[in-house]
Amino acid sequence: MNLRKLIFTNNACYMAGRTIVPKGIMVHSTGANNPNLRRYVGPDDGLLGPNQYGNHWNQYAPDGRSVCVHGFIGKLADGSIATYQTLPWNHRGWHGGGDSNNTHISFEICEDGLADPAYFRAVFTEAVELCAYLCKQYGLNETAVICHSEGYKKGIASNHGDVMHWFPKHGENMDTFRAAVKKALAGNVPLAPPPPSAPPARPTLRKGSIGADVLYLQQRLCAHGFPVLTDGSFGSDTEDKLRKFQTARKLGVDGVCGPKTWAALEAVPPSLSREECRAIIQAKCLFSDPAGVWAAIETHRFADDLYRKLAGVMK
Ligand SMILES: [Zn+2]
Repeated sequence: MNLRKLIFTNNACYMAGRTIVPKGIMVHSTGANNPNLRRYVGPDDGLLGPNQYGNHWNQYAPDGRSVCVHGFIGKLADGSIATYQTLPWNHRGWHGGGDSNNTHISFEICEDGLADPAYFRAVFTEAVELCAYLCKQYGLNETAVICHSEGYKKGIASNHGDVMHWFPKHGENMDTFRAAVKKALAGNVPLAPPPPSAPPARPTLRKGSIGADVLYLQQRLCAHGFPVLTDGSFGSDTEDKLRKFQTARKLGVDGVCGPKTWAALEAVPPSLSREECRAIIQAKCLFSDPAGVWAAIETHRFADDLYRKLAGVMK
């Protein structure tokens, strides 16, 4: 198993901060033909590769939904398979749409076109090893492992078909999966904690820069209470907001994003004041692209009550 860690600290589920005592593990698959981890896990840690659409799940409401799982299995940028832990294992996830959220650790296997036996075998094996690893950690055995569609039949999850629309295409099902987990448990599953992904070196950005790194810079500006259109293009407004950010953080004010400014941008932002929230609401009137404003909200670390107020105004 190639287990790595990138916790979704910007996801509302993480911010909700509730924990569970894990009683089982629920296996999901994504239901979309995209085997790349970067679709769901971000920002880029140097292994995932950049997500040019910025639509990974490490944001307040991914794809506008209240969803979050504990891990993802899929492809790194180099095509190799990895598992990313995306929530603390005992955090209450938002994955099953029922009571399973209160009891089950969850992970998603990134689907491809469902027809490639090599990809299936690689992620199946990775999922078996992850389940064995988690069973050992939480004193469970293979009978505690179910998939989403089994959860529905038990009345603890919403009506989804994963993973039984996929596994049988390759001669497997949840019984054979559990048998493989049992076999892995009988062997020696190493319990080494996953290494945190090292923060990648960020390029120096200035007016005229474009691309995924600029998009990430803009999302971080929003997260710190400096709302800017998140369009991946470093224009006058981005430069202006970056200067304001540099002034507020007592950095050298040059409108250029170098190593010190990156470090400040990637730090956890302070909770927003009422005035900063007001600035974001006003920004709604300035941006023609409402998604830019939502990105600003979604990437903020709000106190719960403040978020509800702001979300109420925005709706
Ligand atoms: Zn599912």
